[in-house]
Amino acid sequence: MACGVIQGVIRERSHAMRMVDPKYLVFDLDETLYPTSNGLMEAIRERIILYMMGRFGISREKAEERRTTYLARYGLTLAGLYIEDHVDVKDYMAFVHHVPLGQYVRPNEALDRMLARLSPAKVIFTNSDVAHSRRVLSALGVSESHFELIFDFEAMGCNAKPHPESYRRLLERIGAKGPECILIEDNPRNVGPARELFGMKTVLVGKGRSEGLVRSELADWVIDDLLELEGLIAREYAGTQGRTFGRDGAT
Ligand SMILES: [Mg+2]
Repeated sequence: MACGVIQGVIRERSHAMRMVDPKYLVFDLDETLYPTSNGLMEAIRERIILYMMGRFGISREKAEERRTTYLARYGLTLAGLYIEDHVDVKDYMAFVHHVPLGQYVRPNEALDRMLARLSPAKVIFTNSDVAHSRRVLSALGVSESHFELIFDFEAMGCNAKPHPESYRRLLERIGAKGPECILIEDNPRNVGPARELFGMKTVLVGKGRSEGLVRSELADWVIDDLLELEGLIAREYAGTQGRTFGRDGAT
């Protein structure tokens, strides 16, 4: 009967660890709602360099150097440009996002349908801006109505992910606690604060930007394709009861 006692203990512990159903799905935009490989961010990065060359009258080499410095210091070029050079955020956003989106972002009907089926409230949490987000959604054929809110760089108080203030402001705005949210994000650097400082559950999506890193240690879950999210949530949340008993039986 010792076996029964051990099983009981395991079940009790598993029950205590059961996750609260997510209240919010918090989606990054760029390279999360569409694949990293589609070339859009390369086009935007080129526009960022052109912006800096024109704004400061500097060479490409100097612009790239300054961009690298700002990325290392703030995690986002714009954060450095705003804090250190006081650039106009709206001008910057309009310039760097002036790219033919339709050449890069293909419609994704399956994504639109998946978002419609996922029941938690959904928000977009992006270092870009609302206008760019709307254009991306339109190019994807994904309805903006799936999302309760697009929370952008200015809404973050001109901080940017991974600055903790960005996450704090988002949680305050939506009235949720970190553990009630799942962050879905392609950039490993933005996952850490969500998980470690705010207790959000985290999904790292896509194959990019994680070479040389142990992906499974960066986030609670790792998926290659955003369309795997629905199955993951069904398995890890709604399916918790069955999964727990399955584990007991296998041990
Ligand atoms: Mg991204």
